Amino acid sequence: MIAQSFNYESPGTLKDAISLLEKYGEEAKILSGGHSLIPMMKLRFASPDVLIDINNIPGLSHIKEEGGVVKIGALTREAEIEHSDLLKKYFPIFADVTKQIADPQVRNRGTIGGNLAHGDAANDHPAVMLSLNATVIATGANGERSIPIDEFFFGFYQTALQQGEILTEIQIPIPPKGTGSSYHKQERKVGDYATAGCAVQITIDSKGVCTAAGIGLTNVNATPLRAVRSQDALLGKPITDATIADAAKFASEDCNPSTDLRGSDEYKRHLVAVLVTRMIHKAMERTK
Ligand code: FAD
Repeated sequence: MIAQSFNYESPGTLKDAISLLEKYGEEAKILSGGHSLIPMMKLRFASPDVLIDINNIPGLSHIKEEGGVVKIGALTREAEIEHSDLLKKYFPIFADVTKQIADPQVRNRGTIGGNLAHGDAANDHPAVMLSLNATVIATGANGERSIPIDEFFFGFYQTALQQGEILTEIQIPIPPKGTGSSYHKQERKVGDYATAGCAVQITIDSKGVCTAAGIGLTNVNATPLRAVRSQDALLGKPITDATIADAAKFASEDCNPSTDLRGSDEYKRHLVAVLVTRMIHKAMERTK
């Protein structure tokens, strides 16, 4: 199908983009990589009157270390994330996740900001950001505000971004030594969205005790899901087969998958338990 007609704006500064958002209000949509928005427009699930293309705004694409956090600009493409040495150094999970997102064509264009702002529980970065305890930076007419990732995803395709705000950066705390992270999703075929996915980041102290655990789940709930009871099952204890089994069981109980063409509720819960088990083991290997 062909999208309905729309007007196109291409501001050269963030200030101009925010002014345009204010001017057009709810009739406008930000255009980043376009790999979620344009398909939605072609299917007529979205019919914005105006697209505000932020691709020509300088300063929105970067991966840098500053003040104990890694900062990723919203316009940073998946391909840049996949090959970033800085991200590989602290967060091997990004090489895991980006390789599993669509195909190279989509990854050359799709942005991390768009992936989060879309608010789709089937996208892969939201669960990763939950596991890494990221903070989202939103910029509007009144300046910047920080949104903890746990407060970012609201409902089906809904986020905490307010009218007139642009997601400009993601900030991720650099974890201490003894930290490992991993992501995997089950997909029906290469390039498909997840049947279910699991992101894990774990920190182990010198005595082998788990001092931090982040576990995020993809596409098994209306919103990206933090597996809180699974994290608690690991925290303050040595990671053993028994604690991992508890974490897996809690995640499978606490998710809310729907039965669809990708599988039944029962199958997806089983899958979640398998993925949580495997990703904890993989993250543990990487703590070394
Ligand atoms: P856009 O499509 O430009 O925007 C998406 C939405 O976010 C729009 O509503 C837009 O207004 C809003 N938005 C974008 N940027 C901002 C911003 N900076 N501030 C505020 N609002 C903003 N994703 C996965 O995670 N896993 C997959 O397996 C996967 N498979 C795919 C397969 C195909 C064939 C395609 C076409 C896409 C797939 N995607 C997948 C989605 C892809 O990763 C998208 O690129 C991504 O979800 C959206 O990023 P974008 O930059 O393209 O955003």
